[in-house]
Amino acid sequence: IKASDLVDEAYARIGEVDGKVKAFLTLNEEAARDEARTIDEKGTADDALLLGMPIGIKDNLVTKGLRTTCASQILENYDPIFDATVIEKVKAQKAITIGKLNMDEFAMGSSTENSSMAITHNPWDLERVPGGSSGGSAASVAAGEVLFALGTDTGGSIRQPSAFCGVVGMKPTYGRVSRYGVVAFASSLDQVGTITRTVEDNAFLLETIAGLDPHDSTSADVKVPHYSAALTGDIKGLRVAVPKEYLGEGIDESVKDKIKAAIRQLEALGAVCEEVSLPHSKYAVPTYYILASSEASANLARFDGVRYGVRADSNDLIEMYKKSRSEGFGDEVKRRVMLGTFALSSGYYDAYYKKAQQVRTLIKQDFEKVLENHDIIVGPTTPTTAFKIGEKVDDPLTMYANDLLTIPVNLAGIPAISLPCGLADGLPVGLQMIGRPFGEKTLYRAAHAYE
Ligand code: GLN
Repeated sequence: IKASDLVDEAYARIGEVDGKVKAFLTLNEEAARDEARTIDEKGTADDALLLGMPIGIKDNLVTKGLRTTCASQILENYDPIFDATVIEKVKAQKAITIGKLNMDEFAMGSSTENSSMAITHNPWDLERVPGGSSGGSAASVAAGEVLFALGTDTGGSIRQPSAFCGVVGMKPTYGRVSRYGVVAFASSLDQVGTITRTVEDNAFLLETIAGLDPHDSTSADVKVPHYSAALTGDIKGLRVAVPKEYLGEGIDESVKDKIKAAIRQLEALGAVCEEVSLPHSKYAVPTYYILASSEASANLARFDGVRYGVRADSNDLIEMYKKSRSEGFGDEVKRRVMLGTFALSSGYYDAYYKKAQQVRTLIKQDFEKVLENHDIIVGPTTPTTAFKIGEKVDDPLTMYANDLLTIPVNLAGIPAISLPCGLADGLPVGLQMIGRPFGEKTLYRAAHAYE
């Protein structure tokens, strides 16, 4: 196959379905076709891992010369002067950027409805959300527009949309992938990850983007394994923990049924499954919203109308700041900045931020304890299948509650993958596998054996 054919096919498919799905915000068509032509002219001797493969990029990863908006009006005209490290890495392996993908504004949301640019529709049912915040990434893969997409996961934003769209999504260990050039939301939680159709493709893509980066002091100096070589199909004796909280109250029966069937299949493959408890996971959602909003309130201070993006008209400096931010940010972003500023203020810091940090440690310890005696933890990715567009958008607390099974993993900094495990009422259900720090290889092996 020629790279030009792959790229032609991607744009043809986008032409066919993206008017309805609306996964892409910006296309990179001319440059993509040029790159494909160059690859084809050079011939097939190249051993680049992703040679000529079309890839879609979430719009919070900066791409040199290609508009990067975070789906926000404040960055509506932002044209980055450098590539994020993950972009450099996929380019080095000769993947071809097809375009930039829709998301919740600044990655704040669980449905992509918080985008200020477009509403993305779930390819399985156009009246439903694709999940979020990497909704464009998951929808583009599910709709067959691209085979590879990059997303970010701060509190579930790769796994939840992957579950809703029936694709494979990996949130790596904190520090596994560089955050250089990722527009920061909550820096202690943000992590770039991979969305694909198959586990094998996912392993190749993570292999490409992982590793130490001198530009990101939180990136880890841990060797990157050949994830794709770990896909042996053999999980005999794998010790699997099933947290009772993950199959308890608030989880749809139809979702539970699929997960239980998946657990039986893992057992049939030779895994040993055992029920465990993660007693502090019930505090994860409120803990996350205090910490993530606090970090966001600091990170988003840089959008002042001066350094990046859109500047409102005013002769007075303070007025210009205020106007740029009140016009540029959407409601959910403002809600988070206010909540975070409040939680960090001197009178309330101990009661909220400090307390949340302490609970975060308890949540992390729950996982450490279980993972001492188990190789992976298994449960649903989400409590329900994809909900209807508009159903939760006016009720932030219900929207936040949808992330109760994904958020604990981010607070603990550990890796987790979501993979399809059948349909409930015609909609995909996601099976979540959670691993030890830097245990991505085991997750891929287990996911591949199940798949
Ligand atoms: N839905 C969560 C939020 O709104 C998680 C978002 C994310 O992982 N970026 O913050």
